[in-house]
Amino acid sequence: MHRSIATVSLSGTLRQKLEAIAAAGFDGIELFEADFINFNGTAADLGRIAADLGLSIDLYQPFRDFEAMPEPQFRRSLDRAERKFDLMQAMGAPLVLCCSNTSPATIDDPALAAAQLHELAERASRRGLRVGFEALAWGRKTSLYGQAWDIVRRADHPGLGLILDSFHTLSLKDDPAGIADIPGDKIFFLQMADAPLLEMSVLQWARHHRSFPGQGELDVIDFFVQTLRAGYTGPLSLEIFNDVFRETPNRRIAVDAMRSLLYLESEARTRLAAAPKRQVARAIELFSPPPVPKLEGITFIEFAADEKSAATLGTLFGQFGFRRVGRHRSKAVSLYRQGDVHLIVNAQPDSFARERFDAHGTSVCALGIRAADPQTAVERAVAMRSQRYDSPVGPQEVAVPAIVAPGGNLLHFVPSSLGPNGLYEADFILEDDGEPAGAGAGAGAGQGAGLLAIDHVALGLAVDQLDTWVLFSRAVLGLAPGESLELADPFGLIRSRGVANADRSVRLVLNVSMSQRTRTARMLNVTGGGAVHHIALRCDDIFETVARLRADGVRFVPISPNYHDDLPTRLDIEPALVERMRAAGVLFDRSAAGDYLHIYTESLEGEGTFFEIVQRIGGYDGYGSSNAPARMAAQAQEQAQPQH
Ligand code: MG
Ligand code: MG
Repeated sequence: MHRSIATVSLSGTLRQKLEAIAAAGFDGIELFEADFINFNGTAADLGRIAADLGLSIDLYQPFRDFEAMPEPQFRRSLDRAERKFDLMQAMGAPLVLCCSNTSPATIDDPALAAAQLHELAERASRRGLRVGFEALAWGRKTSLYGQAWDIVRRADHPGLGLILDSFHTLSLKDDPAGIADIPGDKIFFLQMADAPLLEMSVLQWARHHRSFPGQGELDVIDFFVQTLRAGYTGPLSLEIFNDVFRETPNRRIAVDAMRSLLYLESEARTRLAAAPKRQVARAIELFSPPPVPKLEGITFIEFAADEKSAATLGTLFGQFGFRRVGRHRSKAVSLYRQGDVHLIVNAQPDSFARERFDAHGTSVCALGIRAADPQTAVERAVAMRSQRYDSPVGPQEVAVPAIVAPGGNLLHFVPSSLGPNGLYEADFILEDDGEPAGAGAGAGAGQGAGLLAIDHVALGLAVDQLDTWVLFSRAVLGLAPGESLELADPFGLIRSRGVANADRSVRLVLNVSMSQRTRTARMLNVTGGGAVHHIALRCDDIFETVARLRADGVRFVPISPNYHDDLPTRLDIEPALVERMRAAGVLFDRSAAGDYLHIYTESLEGEGTFFEIVQRIGGYDGYGSSNAPARMAAQAQEQAQPQH
């Protein structure tokens, strides 16, 4: 596919935008008119800059309020069009986007619209240019692609075709199935945009909240599939108006943009293969990456430390019932284990972890995810524009391929064929070889506090990282996003979204602070974003586990008695259970599928990462988000009045 993007989608000067777009591997651009009007050069200059960067200018946009107008306005608009055609010829743009009229002067007459567009196309054709007509969702008389197609068909001019924009169709809940019946060569251009589902005017929604395919909730894949079924072979482009993207570094947004198109193509390819209703033009080659990795749980979490903080972490992990079970063969790295939870503390000088420590202090620097086929997982990630990370491998060590996640932490893919102990046996000198590991371990020594596995890892992200992470999770890791929630911290709103694989063995929670004053935001200021906010560990009996942890000196965030007074007024719970939860400080959530009992520890250091202990009962699939405000209020009040 010829991949393109509208310049309005990125931040920066026009030249900077083009450089970022070229660096991300795009073939062309849609030139947004305002970017040109404020450009300090001529149309010919712009054409040369684009050509030097290997970019074609595929589309000049938008040309507004043209069709179905009274005669005097129509004549003036034709003059206006001639001036735009001058520019297009000078810069080498072959196609202009004419969007449906929003002017109160529009006449409700499709035949007139067709006749006037015919005249516009005739003028364009004389110069070797073409015109594409696009239905704006808020167009005064023409708002649906079906209406726009009717007008284009009536106009019957070879220089006039249809421009499709997924946002305008899907935002109005119009059915894109009819696109497949439009002749592919009459579709001149395809603009793709996704968006979160929001209740607001479609104009506000369109101008501020669009996102790249895979970041929102519209069925953009189906829209693209219908366009391919029509036989469309033109550019695949992105036109994204988004307030956050306008202020985010454009190199990152350009990479997200490219990743979104690669994701869209590969998903469309899969859908077309599953339902080959109609022969799709052979001229189109859709991106075909290695398959989505089969992930089988988060097996380790690695902390960046120096010698001193490594000792502190070791003591803390001991309180949590972990045992140090190994030392790395060649590095200053320790391994702690409980159940299937592995915590690695890396204090190796000159390592990736040490760099992270020097920059951000004690913090999580890597996650290890079990994968059926780590090599393919990395190949998919690279295909989807993630960076591979190769670390030096010592003798007898297992090469664990890794990629760089957004924000800079590493994700390692651990071969599941190694079994629960394999990686560690190879890389670590185990200090306690005979110790049973995993959920099947017997009671007593080595069993710790009953912590069994990593339930989820919550990340603290900067506002401009959320969409990046949602797309990364989907396109690279094959994780599906859950619903987006807003949670109240005493000092601002937190937006939270879970992403998980199908069998829920890998769950991440993406948390974003909308305010600069929350604890999450302060944590980001220290870590630079993309930090591990908390680590949730699963157990079978939370009361037993909490009792053991408290006995060993673990401190939990205190919960207001008002919370437990309120619980039975909201939910039908046994009074005895409420009292047990009150005594233990445990929080509770319930869904139709099951229950969730959980508790948060104090931070391991300062306002940094902390643990959550969770027990899932039945098919509960959430993260106890309704209780996050109780935790955040408690943390804020502790901060205000130190108790210890
Ligand atoms: Mg558009
Ligand atoms: Mg959590």
